[in-house]
Amino acid sequence: MATTTQSVFAFEDGDGKDKQLLGGKGANLCEMTQIGLNVPPGFVIATTACLDYLAAPEQGLPAALMEEVRAQMRAVEEKTGKGFGDPDNPLLVSVRSGSAMSMPGMMDTILNLGLNAATLQGEIRATGDARFGYDAYRRFIQLFGKVALGIDDAVFDTAFEAIKRAAHARQDVDLSARELEQVCERFLALVREHTGQPFPEDPYQQLELAIQAVFNSWQGKRAVDYRRQFHITPEMANGTAVNVVTMVFGNRGEDSATGVAFTRNPGTGENRLYGEYLVNAQGEDVVAGIRTPKPIDRLADEMPEMATALAELRDKLERHYREVQDFEFTIERGQLYCLQTRNGKMNATAMVRTSVEMVEEGLIERERALLRIAPDLLEQMLFPRLDPGVVAESVAQGLPASPGAASGIAVFDADRAEQLGREQGLKVILVREETKPEDIHGFFAAAGILTSRGGKTSHAAVVARGMGKPCVAGAEGISVDVERREARVGLTRFREGEIITIDGTSGKVYIGAIATVEPEFTAELGTLLGWADAHARLRVLANADTPDDARRARRYGAVGIGLARTERMFNDVERLPIVIEMIVAETPEQRQDALDRLLPLQRADFQSLFEVMSPNPVTIRLLDPPIHEFLPDAQVLEREIADLRALECGARGLGVLAGAMGLLHAEDTLRHEVDRARRLVEPALVEEAIAKKEAMLRKVRLLYETNPMLGHRGVRLGITFPEIYQMQVRAILEAAAECAKAGIEVHPQIKVPQVCTAQELRMVRASVETIHAEVAERYGAPVAFRFGTMIEVVRACMRAESLAEEADFFSFGTNDLTQATFSFSREDAENKFLPLYNQSGILQDNPFDVLDRKGVGKLMELAVEWGRRVKPNLHVGICGEHGGHPDSIAFCHQAGLDYVSCSGPRVPVARLAAAHAALAGRQ
Ligand code: ADP
Ligand code: MG
Ligand code: MG
Repeated sequence: MATTTQSVFAFEDGDGKDKQLLGGKGANLCEMTQIGLNVPPGFVIATTACLDYLAAPEQGLPAALMEEVRAQMRAVEEKTGKGFGDPDNPLLVSVRSGSAMSMPGMMDTILNLGLNAATLQGEIRATGDARFGYDAYRRFIQLFGKVALGIDDAVFDTAFEAIKRAAHARQDVDLSARELEQVCERFLALVREHTGQPFPEDPYQQLELAIQAVFNSWQGKRAVDYRRQFHITPEMANGTAVNVVTMVFGNRGEDSATGVAFTRNPGTGENRLYGEYLVNAQGEDVVAGIRTPKPIDRLADEMPEMATALAELRDKLERHYREVQDFEFTIERGQLYCLQTRNGKMNATAMVRTSVEMVEEGLIERERALLRIAPDLLEQMLFPRLDPGVVAESVAQGLPASPGAASGIAVFDADRAEQLGREQGLKVILVREETKPEDIHGFFAAAGILTSRGGKTSHAAVVARGMGKPCVAGAEGISVDVERREARVGLTRFREGEIITIDGTSGKVYIGAIATVEPEFTAELGTLLGWADAHARLRVLANADTPDDARRARRYGAVGIGLARTERMFNDVERLPIVIEMIVAETPEQRQDALDRLLPLQRADFQSLFEVMSPNPVTIRLLDPPIHEFLPDAQVLEREIADLRALECGARGLGVLAGAMGLLHAEDTLRHEVDRARRLVEPALVEEAIAKKEAMLRKVRLLYETNPMLGHRGVRLGITFPEIYQMQVRAILEAAAECAKAGIEVHPQIKVPQVCTAQELRMVRASVETIHAEVAERYGAPVAFRFGTMIEVVRACMRAESLAEEADFFSFGTNDLTQATFSFSREDAENKFLPLYNQSGILQDNPFDVLDRKGVGKLMELAVEWGRRVKPNLHVGICGEHGGHPDSIAFCHQAGLDYVSCSGPRVPVARLAAAHAALAGRQ
C-alpha cells in the first residue's frame, strides 16, 4: 500500500492541515516551514506508513519506504551542506514521534542520531569542543539504547551517577570532556552487555531502527493506556508519524539555549509570553525537570537580541494560528529555531480570558471564542480554592503549576495512589520527586500532585494542568523517601496516610487539611457566557431543591428552576416524624392533622425558592418516591421489637427483684439503684413502645413493594392519597400568593411525576383548579401558574398528544425514561452488566451518562412532535442528569426543546454547550 503512494514529505511539501496523515507535530513543522519560520530542515514519515508497518512488524520497514527516506535525507544533506555519516561534516538528526492528537510524553524521541565513532570525531573537529561532542554522544547512546534497543533507562542512569560521584560533580555540566568520554565508553559497553551486539555504527541502520521504534511505541502500553483514558479513538488519531529533523544545539555554549513557551500564560490567560529556558542545554533538559529553568523574562537581560526574535516568533505564531501556541525553541549560537508548535493546553480560566481578549484584540470572532472552549472545561472554574479566612503556615513553597486547592492523604508512588485513591476511594495527593509518563495512572487517582523537582513545564505540571488537577511543582524543600513512604520538609516529616494540602494557585504546601471555598465567577466568564446566551436557543435552568442551591444556580446564570424535588424537604430531620405520622395515620382525620402541620413548612420552602428565583419560573415536582422510603426498614423494626420484648421481661424481673430486696442482704445504695432502674423501665411504657413499633411494622409491611421503582409512587401516590398532593399544591399556590402580595413576581409551575395516561393528569388538574380557586378567593387575586408533566414513562411518550391536551409543558425525566426504555434498573445495570456491555461494544456508552439518542432520544423526538401537534406552543425541557452534558444538550437543541435543567455547577457548562449546539446547527 505504502509503496504506491508517497509516505514521506519534506517540511516544504507536507500539507500543514493534514494532521491525520502527518501527525500534529509534523503538520505544524510543515506549516511553520511554509510560512517562513526558522525550522531546521527535515521531513515527515506519514502515519499511513506506521499503520502499514504495524500490520506486519516482523517484516521490518518496507524497502520502498527506506528508499523514500534516503531520498529525503539526501535533500536535507543538500539544504544543510552536511553529510549523514560524513566524518568531516556530519549531519545529525532527531527522530521524533507525533500523532494527530497530542499525547505529551507518551512516545519517545531520539536526539543526535547519526553519531558514531567516526562522526563523533568529525563533530568534535568541526565544533572544536570535545566536551560538547561527548555530551551529545552519551545522550544519543542512552536515548537510542532505551528507545530503539529496549534497555532500561536506569542502567544508564546508575552508570552515569557513579561516574559523576567519582568525579565529585554535582551537576551534569560539571563533568569534563574526559569524564564524558568515559561515560560514552561505559554506555557502549552496557549496550554490548545488554544486547550481545555492538552499538550500531551505520547511521542508516540507526535511522531505520529508530523509525521502527517510534512506530512500535504507538502500540506501547503507555500510549495505549493514554488513548484509552482520554478516549482517543482511531478516528481521532491512527498511528504515529515520524519526524526527522536536523539537530540544532542549545548546548553549544553560553550563547545557546533551549526552552519552551506559551504565547500567553496558560494558567491565567494573561497576554504575555510565558515560558522557561535553560542556557547551554538540550531540549529535554527543560522538559525532564533535571535543572530548574529560568523564567522567560530573564532572556531580555541575558540575550536581548534573542528576546526580540522570540517576541517576533510569538507574534507570527499567534497571527497565523489565531490560537494560543505552546512552542519549543532552541537558540544555537545566536540563531533562533522553532522546533514545535501546537495549540496551548490551558486551564479554564486561561481559556476564558484568552477567548475574551482575543476577540477584543480583533484576532478572532465571538463564534470562535465560544467554540474553542470545550464546555466541560468550565467545570474547572468551579473548583475550590483555599479559604482566604484560614490562617495557616505553609511548610514548603513550590511553583504554582496548576491552579486549584486540594487536601488529601499523602502517597509517594503512583501504584499506591491507585490503590488508595481509586480502589479505596480516598482523596490522595501524589507526592513525587518528579513524575514520568509511567506515573500517569497515579494522576488519574489523585486529587492533586506535588513534586519536589522540575518547573512549570515539567511533566507533572503539564499533565496536571491538562487534567485540571491542582499541582505544585518543584517544591525543593521537600525530600521524598519512596522506600520509607515518607517525606521530610525541614524538621517536619509526613508519612503516607497523613493529610496534606496543596495550593496549585500559590504553590504553597501545608500539613493537615485546610478548608476550601468555592471559586468566583471571573468577569471574563460572565462576558463569555453572555455571548453564549446570545447565540443559544436553549435556555438553561437548574435543578435546585433548597434556597441555597437556587441562589448558587442563579449566580451561575440559571434562568429558573426546572426541577425542585419536594422529597428532600420531607426528609428534613424535624419534619420526618410528621411525614411518618401522615403515612401511618389510620384515619383521614389523623392524616389531615399531620398534613396541616406540614403545609406551613412546605409553603415557607416554596416561598423562599420563589423569592430567590424571582422573576424566573420555579418548577416544583409533586411528591415522587415510593412512600415507604420515608419509613424505617422492616428488619430494623423487627429487631427493635424483639429488643423491647426482652426489655419487657427485664422490666418485670426488675419488679420482682425490687420486691425481693428485703430478703437480700443488700446495701442501701444498691436498693436505691434497683428502685430507680425499676421506675425507669416502666412495663407500661415498654408496652406502649412495642405497640407503636408494631403498628409501624404493620404499615411498613402493608406498603412493602416487590418493585418500588415501578410501584406505588409518583402520580399513583397522588391519586391514592389525594390529600398529599392537595397539601403540596396548596402550599405552592399560597406561597405564590404571598409573594405576589409582597410585590415579588413569581411564575410557579406544577409538575406531576410518573404520568402515563391523560386521565391521571386530568384528575390532578381538577384538584389543582379547585385549590387555585380557593386560594384566589382567599387572597383576593388569582396567581398565574403552569401545569405540566414529567415525561419519564414510555407510554407517556406514546400518548404525548393526549397528554399535551392536559399539560402546559413537558419535562423529560431522562433518568427514569432511560431505565424504562432499556428496562434496565440503573443500579443493577451499572454494577453488573453495563461495564461488560461497554467493553465489548454492545453499547457504546453508559446510557445513564450519555443520552441514548437512538432509543431514548427517538422517544423524545416523537413526544415533542406529537405533543406540539396538539399544542404548538407546548413548552418542552429536560431535567434528567443528562441535561448538563454537552452532547445531550446538542441533542436537545436538535430535538427542538426549549430548555435544559441541570445541577447548579453544571449551569455554565450547559450555557456554553447550548451556544455550541446553536452554532453547530448554523454551519
Ligand atoms: P515530545 O513530543 O516529548 O515533546 P519532541 O520530539 O518534541 O518530544 O522532542 C523532545 C525534545 O527534544 C524537545 O525538547 C525538543 O525540542 C528537542 N528536539 C527535538 N528535535 C530536536 C532537534 N532537531 N534539535 C534540537 N532539539 C530537538
Ligand atoms: Mg514524544
Ligand atoms: Mg515536544
